Amino acid sequence: MPATPPLARPSPPGAPGAAPLLALADQCVQCGLCLPHCPTYQLDRSEAESPRGRIAYMRAVASGQLVAGPVGDAHLDHCLGCRRCEAACPAGVRYGELLEGARALQAARTPPSPRIRAALALLARPRLLSFLVALQRPLARILPRRWRAALPPPPAPQTPLEKKAGPVQAPAGAPVVALFTGCIARPHEAGTRDALSRLLAAAGIASVVPSGQGCCGAAAAHAGDAGGASRLALANRNAFAGQERVLCSTSGCHDTLSRSLQGAARVEDPLVLLDQAGDRLRFRPAARRVALHLPCTQRSVVRSDAALRRLLARVPGLDLVELPDTGCCGAAGLHQLAEPARAEAFRAPLLKALADSGASELLSANIGCRLHLATGTTMNVRHPIDFLAEHLA
Ligand code: SF4
Ligand code: SF4
Repeated sequence: MPATPPLARPSPPGAPGAAPLLALADQCVQCGLCLPHCPTYQLDRSEAESPRGRIAYMRAVASGQLVAGPVGDAHLDHCLGCRRCEAACPAGVRYGELLEGARALQAARTPPSPRIRAALALLARPRLLSFLVALQRPLARILPRRWRAALPPPPAPQTPLEKKAGPVQAPAGAPVVALFTGCIARPHEAGTRDALSRLLAAAGIASVVPSGQGCCGAAAAHAGDAGGASRLALANRNAFAGQERVLCSTSGCHDTLSRSLQGAARVEDPLVLLDQAGDRLRFRPAARRVALHLPCTQRSVVRSDAALRRLLARVPGLDLVELPDTGCCGAAGLHQLAEPARAEAFRAPLLKALADSGASELLSANIGCRLHLATGTTMNVRHPIDFLAEHLA
């Protein structure tokens, strides 16, 4: 059985102050080996838009050698938080932690825009967010076409197949795992959680959805709202009290949730668990071409891409086309809201590869990437778990 890959960093959410930030930054030996892996460096070909350049800026500001200004802060804003640099760094620089610390100091001197503050407030209230998302379909009938096009697609209704299939009951005495619902994934992945429960039950595992849980806090931490991220972490810690294993199907939330529940529960990617139990799963043939997008967080942080490939290889007849790694899709949490033009520039090569692939649908395991990609294509974009459950024999 393949072991669950280790997570990249162990510290709980919350931003380090200037002194710990300096200690983290000092681990960078400025070798530059991370530069070819950085999507913003690839786009702009500028040292200031590279991990090494950003770390130098963070260090200079935190040490008082440089007064922070709009130019340096803009380069910090452009960072996608994809952590490809961290995965590539031979010196073990904890870039994700550095970025959260630098953004917290930045937010203290320059508060985020009203748009970002409104988005964070909404993400911290998943019930209200679910209510607004539920209004999206009726609203779409009266909104002008231009406004509709700017909105992410509403959650897919359950397909007749999913309704007909109904729940698969796990055997009595089966091991139990808890499912994480998140914020925007709460309405958008309701069908995915049903699909996951059916796959788990087919693999002999029961699942529960504890109440009181909410946003993982990654968006707040990346926007420099360390206090908000800590409050969300505490709420999730309380909600999952008594659970041993928590499944997080959104790769972008995995690391933050893991740090929130550190010492209390183990957070796992359901794709890894299903892969481990793969011999108990039987799939119907799917004689069509399907494209696969691997989010940065799935590649660099959770590292469940190999498990996903093995799972999809179990579906007979599936013609899987893995989209080339063109760098981050540009979604990057709230980056798609804060920097829409740059987000579209990052997305463009992926959409071209998708259009050229001849695929009939696209699979991607991160909710932010899916929403961002779906606004640029008419193709059906869904979680691999939805696809796998639809093909359960
Ligand atoms: S972050 Fe790591 S890979 Fe990048 S320059 Fe610093 S030490 Fe080198
Ligand atoms: S997190 Fe991503 S965008 Fe930011 S410096 Fe690292 S590789 Fe570049």
